[in-house]
Amino acid sequence: MEPFPSDRIQLPRNMIENSMFEEEPDVVDLAKEPCLHPLDPDEVEYEPRSSRLLVRGLGENEMDDDEEDYESSAKLLGMSFMNRSSGLRNNMSVYRQNPNESCLVPSTRTMVVCTVILVIAVSLIMAIYLLPKCIFTKEGCYKKNYTMELIYPLATNGKLFPWSKIRLPPDVVPLHYDLVLQPNLTTLKFAGSVNIVVNVIQVTWKIVLHSSGLNIMKATITSAGGQQTKPAEFLEYPLHDQIAIMAPEALLVGQNYTVNIEYSSNLSDTYYGFYKISYKDENSEQRWFAATQFEPLAARSAFPCFDEPAFKATFLIKIKRDEKLSTLSNMPKKATTPVTNGIVQDEFFVSLKMSTYLVAFVVADLKNISRETNGSLVSIYAIPQHLNQVGYALNTAVKLLEFYQKYFLINYPLEKLDLVAIPDFQSGAMENWGLITFRETALLFDSNTSSARDKKLITAVIAHELAHQWFGNLVTMEWWNDLWLNEGFATFMEYVAMEEIFPELHSDEDFLNLIFKAMMKDSLNSSHPVSSAVQSSEQIEEMFDALSYIKGASLLLMLKHYLTKDVFQAGIEVYLHNHNYGSAQSDDLWDSMNEVTNGTLDVKKLMKTWIQHKGFPLVTIVRKRNVISLQQEKFLYHMEPENWTSDTSYLWHIPLTYITSNCNFTHCTSAYLLDQKSAVIELPEEVEWIKFNVDMNGYYIVHYAEDWKTLIDLLKKNHTALSPKDRANLINNIFSLAGLGKESLEKAFELIDYVNKESSTSPLTQALFQLSHIYSLLEKKGEQQLAVRVMHRIEHLLGDKIDQQHWTDDGTLSERELRSMLLAFACTHDMRNCRTTANEMFKKWMKSNGTMSLPSDVMKAIFIAGAKSSDGWEFLLKMYSSSVSEAEKSKMIEALSTTEDVRKLIWLMQNSLEGEVIRAQELSHIVSTVSQSLTGHLLAWDFVKENWEKLTRKFHLGSYTIQNIITLSTSQFATKTHLLEVKSFFEAKSEESSQLRCVKEAIDTIQLNIQWMERNLAKLQELL
Ligand SMILES: [Zn+2]
Repeated sequence: MEPFPSDRIQLPRNMIENSMFEEEPDVVDLAKEPCLHPLDPDEVEYEPRSSRLLVRGLGENEMDDDEEDYESSAKLLGMSFMNRSSGLRNNMSVYRQNPNESCLVPSTRTMVVCTVILVIAVSLIMAIYLLPKCIFTKEGCYKKNYTMELIYPLATNGKLFPWSKIRLPPDVVPLHYDLVLQPNLTTLKFAGSVNIVVNVIQVTWKIVLHSSGLNIMKATITSAGGQQTKPAEFLEYPLHDQIAIMAPEALLVGQNYTVNIEYSSNLSDTYYGFYKISYKDENSEQRWFAATQFEPLAARSAFPCFDEPAFKATFLIKIKRDEKLSTLSNMPKKATTPVTNGIVQDEFFVSLKMSTYLVAFVVADLKNISRETNGSLVSIYAIPQHLNQVGYALNTAVKLLEFYQKYFLINYPLEKLDLVAIPDFQSGAMENWGLITFRETALLFDSNTSSARDKKLITAVIAHELAHQWFGNLVTMEWWNDLWLNEGFATFMEYVAMEEIFPELHSDEDFLNLIFKAMMKDSLNSSHPVSSAVQSSEQIEEMFDALSYIKGASLLLMLKHYLTKDVFQAGIEVYLHNHNYGSAQSDDLWDSMNEVTNGTLDVKKLMKTWIQHKGFPLVTIVRKRNVISLQQEKFLYHMEPENWTSDTSYLWHIPLTYITSNCNFTHCTSAYLLDQKSAVIELPEEVEWIKFNVDMNGYYIVHYAEDWKTLIDLLKKNHTALSPKDRANLINNIFSLAGLGKESLEKAFELIDYVNKESSTSPLTQALFQLSHIYSLLEKKGEQQLAVRVMHRIEHLLGDKIDQQHWTDDGTLSERELRSMLLAFACTHDMRNCRTTANEMFKKWMKSNGTMSLPSDVMKAIFIAGAKSSDGWEFLLKMYSSSVSEAEKSKMIEALSTTEDVRKLIWLMQNSLEGEVIRAQELSHIVSTVSQSLTGHLLAWDFVKENWEKLTRKFHLGSYTIQNIITLSTSQFATKTHLLEVKSFFEAKSEESSQLRCVKEAIDTIQLNIQWMERNLAKLQELL
């Protein structure tokens, strides 16, 4: 998927499934907690804790009911001694962890109590293991193997639900699905029937699978021969989105059974599952469009299924539709047959073996253009009025598909590949196998209104999604903890492919800027290892973040440079061949690489230090003549005492690269693997300067200690001695070090003094980012005069560059992109004559009633200037409603969000949430723009607070959109009052909300802003 823009070590699956007490917070495992102490009952502080295991999804205030449920279930099962809360209540076992984590000497009485409990516990456990592998329930004795199933939650009908884990049991696996759906775009409901062929791995009486929000009418089980179809009881446990089909007789090992489930549901009004979209056709009449978005956990809301990525199966899909509409699914259409008056059924070919999250279908009025390449038909689909904007996507998709087939040495395995523009879509795109869905702005290119930047975005998103057809679809991560294997790889391949096929787009510059942003997140305490254990839906949703995507990709970039391009590519080929149509973990990738390096390099050992740790290293360089001393430590803002320890677990194996004044070309790049805390490199001769992390191909920051001055002088005298990426890297590193307090802000400002001679996009972008970030924080803190002085500094550095820009679409793509950025910045901040020129053009455009063609690259700057007046804003909104170009609309909505009129800003955010005039897909973009301005930043946060419930209903908790809305609406705060307010707000919400990683990131960021101000405010007064 392409978004828009528990740090414990993952247990192998079999360990999780067989871990008796895993995940139950109220269960005490005596063997694992040696420091739990018997206490006198009087000393016990009873703290009720909710048990996710035994309740039916109720709130905290319903705890008493939950406890009763728990106790009755537990008593029934004879296991009440295992529950901490009920145990405390009954004074049967009284334990509390010593806060100092040291063991106290227990009294004789408590020793006796403890011993008795231990004896009972051990006897019971032994009885369970040694006796007949049988569990006594109301129904009698079942022959079972899972001791962990002793405690069951309750199903919606009050019966015991036979499974307590979030993950599905491994005793039954799906092989094939026959899915028949009948969506009704008038009633906005759908009916469904699914036959699932399952294979039994271990004898069982139940089939547990996922279902969410489905109204199940009937379930049957048919045995392998197919003659005996028997009705089956089904139980539902909504807290885990699970249902259990109870077999009338034992399901035997090695046998196949077919489960049939009949159900119905409403088309969703969120962006997940099988959802509906309303849009206006070319005659301005309302039409409905139905599409799917299943990743990560929403296939279960369209059909009952084994909704975990490792449960791969084949799918035969049939969709009944209005004969005037069309349908698409992963596979080509096999047949269309009449059903009743005006209704026909489309049947698609059986799919390849794949994960449920990759299943997709669309029902709508669509038009397409197609082209065949290497035996596959590539088509771009859109609603009819957008058909003239699909040409660029088709050419691009064909070129990229051809590139990937050669690069991976595996053909794209399907006969067709459809790319569909969806009129309302939360993320950028979704890689469903054979049916990739896109947000319209990420697929449609309009030659009159799409800018150079838009072209790059479309190319990048197509490149990303096509790479997923191999990374993700052919080889899938086994579980969501390794999401980076999908997303990091697709992001990495996106840039590899673009550099190769579209070098004129200079996509590596964008990648560099994204890496800087990912490092910013990764330097906070709230960060997480790229591969992190996840269980809950919020945790899974939160994996779709900059770390899985960008850090994952930049680690692969670093590895590619270390191994060399050819070895790396050979390793990928081995990985894809070894695991095709299967699932993989991070280690499988390293093993494949090691097969290629053949023992010369241990890729697994190296990469584990990067994948299993959060954060990244800071390498400090001290140069004395030709001797370079190196030292690594963790780069972390908000150093807290425990983070200062020289814990060896924070030792990275860093493939360092460097160039020197004696030879600064790429072919002169030297390498050194720093796998110790410190090391010394001896150069063959003395050098004038040395620059590490060549082209920022490594994921670390370098501090040059006493050598910054040399590099500052080099940039002043001859900045082109270093590559543009190296220059951007130095700017980023010195400002990061100034934020950490390791280097002075004065030196950082001194380093960027050379920028008025700079003409490359990436160093200019980085310098502008750093300075405008400081400006923004000062402005919001009420330091207006100082903010104005920062703006003067920006003008001093970039003023000439802004004056040199033409208001046209001429030049290379890189020049055009730089122009868009500089003029939009100048018009936003009323710098130079930007607004004068832009206003003249806006007035002409208004006079022509929007028919005059504006240069696409400067269109946003013109709209920003125009939106400053009330008339201009109203006109822009009118044009927004009637425009058929999503590229144009996107620039309009951004300009509309820059107004200083408070009422208009509130109106924009509210209307976008409602999704009528402005689509809800734009909301995070609007909130982001509003949050940046002085007028808007408090409004944006108020909006989030007031609409929190609506927001989390529309966009799931933890989703990329919610992550963005939270972090962006709070990113400008730099006071303790705001810190307290943000903390209290989320603490007062659900536990799931306050535990979100993005909430922690928001809090860390505010603290960092406060710290930055305390450290640098006085210095800024002197400097500017
Ligand atoms: Zn992706």
